[in-house]
Amino acid sequence: RSRFPNEPEYIQAVSQVLATIEEEYNKHPEFEKSNLIERLCIPDRLIEFRVTWVDDKGNVQTNMGYRIQHNNVIGPYKGGLRFHRSVNLSILKFLAFEQTFKNSLTTLPMGGAKGGSDFSPRGKSNAEVMRFCQAFMNELYRHIGPDEDVPAGDIGVGGREVGYLFGQYKKLTHQFVGILTGKGQEFGGSLIRPEATGYGNVYFLENMLKTRNIDLKGKTVLVSGAGNVAQYTIEKLLQLGAKPLTCSDSDGYIYDPDGIDEEKLAYIMELKNVERGRIREYAEKYGVKYVEGAKPWFEKADIATPCATQNEINEEAAKALVANGVIAVTEGANMPTTPEATKVFQDAKILYCPGKASNAGGVAVSGLEMSQNSERLKWSREEVDNKLRNIMDDIHANCVKYGTEADGYINYVKGANVAGFLKVAKAMMAQGIV
Ligand code: NDP
Repeated sequence: RSRFPNEPEYIQAVSQVLATIEEEYNKHPEFEKSNLIERLCIPDRLIEFRVTWVDDKGNVQTNMGYRIQHNNVIGPYKGGLRFHRSVNLSILKFLAFEQTFKNSLTTLPMGGAKGGSDFSPRGKSNAEVMRFCQAFMNELYRHIGPDEDVPAGDIGVGGREVGYLFGQYKKLTHQFVGILTGKGQEFGGSLIRPEATGYGNVYFLENMLKTRNIDLKGKTVLVSGAGNVAQYTIEKLLQLGAKPLTCSDSDGYIYDPDGIDEEKLAYIMELKNVERGRIREYAEKYGVKYVEGAKPWFEKADIATPCATQNEINEEAAKALVANGVIAVTEGANMPTTPEATKVFQDAKILYCPGKASNAGGVAVSGLEMSQNSERLKWSREEVDNKLRNIMDDIHANCVKYGTEADGYINYVKGANVAGFLKVAKAMMAQGIV
């Protein structure tokens, strides 16, 4: 805390992990002797740079660019790039820290990293986004490589941005290699990668419900966000017979009592991915409720799945969800639940899972994209989807193994943290003091 006083999100993420791994940590005196916690909490490397680009009016703009290479003991650094005006070192350090444990949980050989910029693609023309991505890559390319560090997308970085970043890397280095995941299908992208985080989130939810013999079919679901993770969470919920009632963007949320069906989801995808419009337009088109400046957590439903951003469910929202009878909360976003809200869910003994487990499907399929790039092959949709499902099953089983408490309640936060930590810790011990 005294080392990083101005990094509240980072302190929040680290504190939560340390609190839940303490019991396991104390069983290993060798960890303490090698100062493992400090070595694990301080990122291997912080890269910070200026990005200079020219807007459509000819004005020169500057933004900050970052890459946090947190830990690479189990594989090359791996983690997304976030382009959003709120991006700062604290947020990226928390995301890179979480990514290290998440990647460890996936069972694949990937270390943890995160990066991005305070540039927001919202309201920018395609040409501006392209020039920004090129300028960003002009600096980043020195620090990444297929065996070194492989970034991907995150908030504000989708297929369009990954394409521009990849094109510039190729221009600078003359190399066609898998230095980014989430690429287009025509140039090395994996099938199912766009869907993976949302699909994996719902596969995990299904596994959680199974522990209580509850069927997802017919259940109503509150979803936040309307981007990549929210869209494919809704798609898989529909395929499995659930009824998503809400989605949102940073301006507000819509509530559709008839449920968001396939046709309405196709509209959301067009609105968000092509027209880059606002979610309020859904309410205008379908004549449903739109609430400006609010989140959907005060509506009544069986399940909630936050898929927008960090700290979007606070204590008050968690209490409202529990009072309204929610049975499960699964995180598509990273750290969307505050520590106080987490306690509310756990005290109420509802099914609650942290993003590092339930949203790990995205990076897992990114790992599979890396494998396909290395062998210069492309796997079928079914093959990737089956592997994704198996990985989500394995992550769930690990959470149960390390998180089941004396009264039978599965503490998924503890389970995910302990399982993720142990693998990284053992690899660090084996590799010596470096
Ligand atoms: P997108 O940019 O595709 O979508 C983000 C959505 O969340 C948009 O609807 C956006 O609204 C909304 N949002 C963003 N910031 C805020 C905010 N401060 N307050 C309210 N709403 C906000 O991102 P993704 O769907 O890829 O990512 C969503 C979450 O999932 C993030 O936490 C990300 O880290 C996490 N995640 C993503 C993975 C992936 O594979 N993409 C993998 C694992 C985790 P608006 O349109 O107004 O900006």
